[in-house]
Amino acid sequence: MPSFDPRALIIDPVLSHSTYLAGSSGFDALSVIAVDSSDDAFVTDLTNSGDFPTWKPRQGKPRSAKASLGGVVTAEQKLSDLEAGPVRKYSLLTATLIIAICSSALFAQSVPAKQPKLILLVVIDQFRYDYLLRFRDQYTGGLSRLLNEGAVFDNAHLEHYPTVTAIGHATALTGATPALSGIVGNDWYDRESHKRILSISDETVKVLGGNGDGASPHRLLVSTLGDEIKMAHLGNAHVVGVSLKDRSAILPAGRMADAAYWYDAATGNFVSSTYYFADLPEWVKQFDARRPSDDFAGYEWLTGMAPSQSKHLPATPGRDLYSAVFGSPAGNELLEAFVEQAIAAESLGRHDATDVLTVSFSSNDVVGHSFGPDAPEVRDISIRTDRLLARLFDYLDRLLGLQNVLVMLTADHGVSPLPEKLAEWKMPGGRMTGGDLFNPMRAALEAKFGKGEWILDTAGTSPYLNLDLIRAKGFEEAEVRRIAAKAVATEPHVWRVYTRDQLLLGQVPHDPISDRVIRSFNAKRSGDLEILLEPYWIRSARGTTHGTPYSYDSHIPLIFMGPRIRPGHYFQNVALNDAAPTLATILGVETPSGSVGRVLYEILRDQ
Ligand SMILES: [Zn+2]
Repeated sequence: MPSFDPRALIIDPVLSHSTYLAGSSGFDALSVIAVDSSDDAFVTDLTNSGDFPTWKPRQGKPRSAKASLGGVVTAEQKLSDLEAGPVRKYSLLTATLIIAICSSALFAQSVPAKQPKLILLVVIDQFRYDYLLRFRDQYTGGLSRLLNEGAVFDNAHLEHYPTVTAIGHATALTGATPALSGIVGNDWYDRESHKRILSISDETVKVLGGNGDGASPHRLLVSTLGDEIKMAHLGNAHVVGVSLKDRSAILPAGRMADAAYWYDAATGNFVSSTYYFADLPEWVKQFDARRPSDDFAGYEWLTGMAPSQSKHLPATPGRDLYSAVFGSPAGNELLEAFVEQAIAAESLGRHDATDVLTVSFSSNDVVGHSFGPDAPEVRDISIRTDRLLARLFDYLDRLLGLQNVLVMLTADHGVSPLPEKLAEWKMPGGRMTGGDLFNPMRAALEAKFGKGEWILDTAGTSPYLNLDLIRAKGFEEAEVRRIAAKAVATEPHVWRVYTRDQLLLGQVPHDPISDRVIRSFNAKRSGDLEILLEPYWIRSARGTTHGTPYSYDSHIPLIFMGPRIRPGHYFQNVALNDAAPTLATILGVETPSGSVGRVLYEILRDQ
């Protein structure tokens, strides 16, 4: 055979999900033949069968010879070994035929396609920009590759407020800020239904495959990149969102998405909603049926530390284990295994228009909240995320050729150091409670306007005043807000208070912080005041959190790698909002409807 790129290619789809090539039972999706630099041909892809003599477990320490990560492994069966090996269902004639088909297909694939086959958005939840630098010498996998081969923005910020998960994920592929996207927080008080709602809660749909409330993107008021590809009628592009968190799977994919999948920590299953389909796809049922979460019983992390510092997940399957999986690097590993299955089963990157896959690794956020950015746990999960991304990139490389995948990596927000750590460092900061802010406000409103439930609910540091009561008593809304703002403005460690009236009229100090708040104020959904604390002050009794407009929360990684991208470091200030219009430009589709970003033309190569 002539020499070919060691790149995977797709063969007859009839072989996909069959046990034809090998495997006696269960899930085999050996749909790929790869030729390596020595011209040896391999059948490869996913299997849970133990029939492959050369299969390689994907996890460091499989619990048994056959079961690793739910029994799903990447099989690599060298074709020339087939006659001698245990796999006898496959004739040499067929092998020769397939290699011949492959050879011509390889030539066809060796010229990169004009457009990426797949847009892969990777969000690492709570991954501060400086984690790229702090642990750089430990990265040898996917993060290292992105830093070396991608267009790296060293000063990308979130230009919205509050810096929370739902908003970050809604921004990544819409380019919109909350004022337009309508996603004003992870949750807020809905004045129409008089209820507290989540960014993705939807009573008209049901969860499929597990527990929990129905969820959909119906509150998202703008289009995503995936929506625009679909509306451009470029072909049968598929758009899929995956995460451990529902909001992080649903919001980046958008309203026209084919599917969003997330993790149910009560059952250990991946689930979805009737918004997307009436029943879970068969491959998801099969994935869940293998109980892959159970394989993480006893999972060890912080392994490189002293034995006393290493951590272990519960030893037996059950609710405790499933929630511990979420809060440890195991959650990301489980997600990555699910993502590989999604790519294979939903044929991502194999449609005639560019597909979109959004993947959000959530476990980094749980670990960060618990231990803070300076803990060894955060270092450990960051390094493991680097390795995991290498695994995902290798998989895509074998399946589609990574040169056909446009990767975007970012985060939904950063995080504050632990207040106790800040105190050690002689830095400002500390903890406060919602009561510290809202009790003086209640007292001032009652003193001025009489007894009553003046505050109906709060979202973050934003109160929702009882407008019905204000009207019934004949008071002016603006006057009530002014009194409420005055009461809280003098509280310790409150930096600034904006009222709804000031924000809508633009009567605020003109600086970048005010701009972030104004861009995020949605007249129908936002509260009556926006209260900003001094830097490093958090409303959390334990651990740490995020949500402020300050750099430690707003400074995020933003890296693009793949077709049309000019690698290098770019030092100018840019916004996460710039990503969506840039990707839309590369694909030649309409800019997402709420985008306020600019095209990052400096990273674009000509076609
Ligand atoms: Zn988050």
